[in-house]
Amino acid sequence: MSHDVDTDPKNTSDEHNVVDKLHRPLRDLRVSVTDRCNFRCVYCMPKSVFSKEYKFLPRSELLSFEEITRVVKTAAQFGVTKIRLTGGEPLIRNDLEQLVEWIANVDGIKDISLTTNASLLTKKRAVSLRSAGLQRLNVSLDAIDDETFKRVNDVDIGVQDVLDGIEHATLAGFKSTKVNMVVKKGLNDHSILPMAKFFHGTGQILRFIEFMDVGSTNAWDLSHVVTSQEIADRINAELPIQPAEANYRGEVAKRWQYVDGGGEIGIITSVSEPFCGDCSRARLSATGSVYTCLFATSGHDLRPLLRSQDDAALAREFKRIWSSREDRYSETRTQVSVIRPKVEMSFIGG
Ligand code: SAM
Ligand code: SF4
Ligand code: SF4
Repeated sequence: MSHDVDTDPKNTSDEHNVVDKLHRPLRDLRVSVTDRCNFRCVYCMPKSVFSKEYKFLPRSELLSFEEITRVVKTAAQFGVTKIRLTGGEPLIRNDLEQLVEWIANVDGIKDISLTTNASLLTKKRAVSLRSAGLQRLNVSLDAIDDETFKRVNDVDIGVQDVLDGIEHATLAGFKSTKVNMVVKKGLNDHSILPMAKFFHGTGQILRFIEFMDVGSTNAWDLSHVVTSQEIADRINAELPIQPAEANYRGEVAKRWQYVDGGGEIGIITSVSEPFCGDCSRARLSATGSVYTCLFATSGHDLRPLLRSQDDAALAREFKRIWSSREDRYSETRTQVSVIRPKVEMSFIGG
């Protein structure tokens, strides 16, 4: 997951300044367009749970693109400027371009991005998504050798398919494609340095993400986390790096620059240095529930309101949800004594 947050309050009307109980504004909405995926990453959708028998949501339960656009319009009224489409694997939705186009036309939306495993990103798709108004892509890639990558994705898809996707994005004119690597000790942490070396000097920004305890199916344990400091130390030992200034207040990826001018990397420190204080992000599940934290147990179901045409009621509910928010799970993770169920990341989107 990338947790990047832009807290720069560009909107100044009262309506746009709705804040939660910890005075955090709402700026960012992640929209999950499907709970399905063509990968079975062992830390996200392990086959033991997401097997052939697993019942994914029927199409009839997914929000329509009209409904998603209506939620985006409402969110924009309250200060959301950034939309990220995610899943599951969002490229599984063949008509995603339509949604991108509609969202791009919503007043107040300045940035639309997509998080994808890129294995389905053909040249044609990259071009059509760009023409529809998609601005940025984050591609997930957890290793640079096939053996490790296949052990992670568990569906026998090789690294080249993802690299081809990244190449297609570049050819289609996407400029700042970022590559995200989740690091899990004993699974792929030996790939930290090979990944750094591969992307060094390419202009693509590699971001390392600490393995998180999202959901209840990935058997997370603190001992599986390679901390941000350890990741930086391992890279620095061979490719010297120095800390770089954040691009904006609340940026969650800590930036590091290669001393030799080979570009930069980011490290997302969700576990070792939580950043809940600046978290201005809400999530919309594929079934129409709003979640105010990645680690939430339950969401707020907007479907009854989406069935009516009462925009004012939808807006009131959206405002109520954000203004009663007090989530700061990552800051309290080690103090939480009772284990409670958490929603899966493939359901609400990374
Ligand atoms: N399928 C798309 C992809 O993989 O990019 C989008 C959805 S995926 C849930 C979004 C991001 O969440 C991916 O970068 C993935 O690696 C990350 N992610 C999933 N489970 C995670 C976990 N337990 N800890 C940290 N990041 C995780
Ligand atoms: Fe699919 Fe993305 Fe989860 Fe991997 S991380 S299983 S690609 S949703
Ligand atoms: Fe935001 Fe929840 Fe993550 Fe904290 S734990 S940064 S509140 S999503």
